Amino acid sequence: MNTSQSILVPFSSSSQTAHVYLGIGASLGDRENNLREGLHLLERDANIRVERVSGLYRSPHMGLAPGDKTRFPFHLNAVAEISTTPKPIELLDRLLEAEEESGRVRSEKWGARTLDLDIVLWESLTLSSERLMIPHPGLSRRAFVVVPLLELNPRIAVPNGTRVSDFLGSLEADLRHLTRIRDVEWYTGQKIEAKLSAAE
Ligand code: AMP
Repeated sequence: MNTSQSILVPFSSSSQTAHVYLGIGASLGDRENNLREGLHLLERDANIRVERVSGLYRSPHMGLAPGDKTRFPFHLNAVAEISTTPKPIELLDRLLEAEEESGRVRSEKWGARTLDLDIVLWESLTLSSERLMIPHPGLSRRAFVVVPLLELNPRIAVPNGTRVSDFLGSLEADLRHLTRIRDVEWYTGQKIEAKLSAAE
């Protein structure tokens, strides 16, 4: 993991390697483990590297109606910064494979999920195809993506130049229900523990 905070906006694309932000979420099963496992599954592709992760956030399911609370349990979310060489559509396929492999259960479109992986931002790229939209079309409306993304890069902007921090103004209600429950150790702690026990 590279803990450097020095990434500027917009990224420079000097090589084939792209720096990409992923939104990761889970609302079923061992949520924290699902998120960790999802990123580890992606890293099995030698061309995908997890560079940094945000802290871990807890939020209620979006648009809950009375009585829905048990049907739609809370979500855990984070944002990961990855470096990758696959093309956007290839990365999308990797994400879908990881979701499937982690046992994602999708009974209904907006239902609970074991793992949800989204491409949030891809440097200064804009893309609008049937299968893939970049930046992610939900970014400006999702406090659980905006906040962890800003944690990783407070000055980040979308390709049209709008600062992501400008989205916060219209997210006040959702921000009240968003709780940062773990520091970045939710991800790195596992690796540190493994290293420590290996050294014993
Ligand atoms: P969902 O599971 O509701 O997040 O929707 C997944 C589908 O959204 C994928 O199969 C993609 O075809 C589509 N999609 C469109 N834009 C994106 C994006 N930026 N990241 C991930 N999936 C996307």
